[in-house]
Amino acid sequence: MWTRTIAHVDMDCFFAAVEALDNPDYRGKPVIVGGPRDSVRAVVSTCSYEARAYGVRSAMPMSQAARLCPHAIFVPGNMARYVQVSREIMRVLEAFTPIMQQVSIDEAFLDMTGCEHFYTDALDLGTQIKQAIKDASGLTASVGIAQNKFLAKLASSKSKPDGLLVICPEDVDAFLSPLPVRDVWGVGEKGERSLARYGIETVEDLRLWSKEWLVEQYGKWGAQLYDLARGIDDDPVVADEEQKSFGSESTFDEDIADRYELVQYLAQHARRVGSRLRGAGKLARTVTVKVKFADFSQVTRSKTMAEPFDDYDTIYNTACTLLDEIDMGMAVRLIGLSVSGLSDCRQLSLFGSDNRNCAIDDVLDELSQRYGSKGVIRGRELED
Ligand SMILES: [Mg+2]
Repeated sequence: MWTRTIAHVDMDCFFAAVEALDNPDYRGKPVIVGGPRDSVRAVVSTCSYEARAYGVRSAMPMSQAARLCPHAIFVPGNMARYVQVSREIMRVLEAFTPIMQQVSIDEAFLDMTGCEHFYTDALDLGTQIKQAIKDASGLTASVGIAQNKFLAKLASSKSKPDGLLVICPEDVDAFLSPLPVRDVWGVGEKGERSLARYGIETVEDLRLWSKEWLVEQYGKWGAQLYDLARGIDDDPVVADEEQKSFGSESTFDEDIADRYELVQYLAQHARRVGSRLRGAGKLARTVTVKVKFADFSQVTRSKTMAEPFDDYDTIYNTACTLLDEIDMGMAVRLIGLSVSGLSDCRQLSLFGSDNRNCAIDDVLDELSQRYGSKGVIRGRELED
């Protein structure tokens, strides 16, 4: 008896696969996508299975990858092209169910609950998803199907590459038992070490401990471990609502005539808008500044960039340039900033170990989440 039917779809070494699709002579060869080989901070973004055979892995320094597999084909990556292929694939997946949650450029959950009767069984469903992706893009995906997101994702990862694995409810215990705890959602290197102190190395070991004991040791995470070890996960598949833009504006109690004061508001709005953009995993192409004057007349100015962006500096600097273009004949009662022309994907930072702005933005986002947005303010907003 299935309570829900969840599919997890994950493209196989996506960036490298797109490269091989576009460059037939790359096929069957080790392909490594990532930053420049001679850069100290550059890391491997994706590599083909042929490169993995040499021990090359994602997130490994490029220099190390170059040592392990010096004859590999090194490509800098073409994000615009990957985003384009990703869109085609997501469109294919959307046709299966409206409850589709894209979790990265090449990965999505589908809630197929209630659609089961369209398919012979879960294997048939998985086969059709894989075939539809192959037909549309020429690429292979791995698909996991189970009652919840945790198991579905585990299933797709265990079936890679070009795999399909269905975990039926009655097989969950047998499937999970022998797996290392590292396979449980949320268990990283640190968690693994901590659990090992109690002799917990496999999911079966984990199941020997009571919920009370796990909560005592690990708090809320302990309770989650208890459930996941039993294949229990209620996390819903949340369909992305199609957000067209992100904006932020303020209306002043007293009209403002001073440009410098307006710029400080723009800095605030740029931070808020950028943080929401990144939080949604989106990139934008257009920045718009809106100004309403004391007499209620309104002016908007927009600029569209060649490259999609999600960083504070681009948003803030563009907004300032746009403000300069507006004729300030009168005091201002409202100023607003928005970004639009949104696209999915937030993996640019994979290449961007050299991209300092993004790294700073990520840190600020994390701090804001932890301490509230008031806790973290950029220097520009403090300037007087
Ligand atoms: Mg993938």
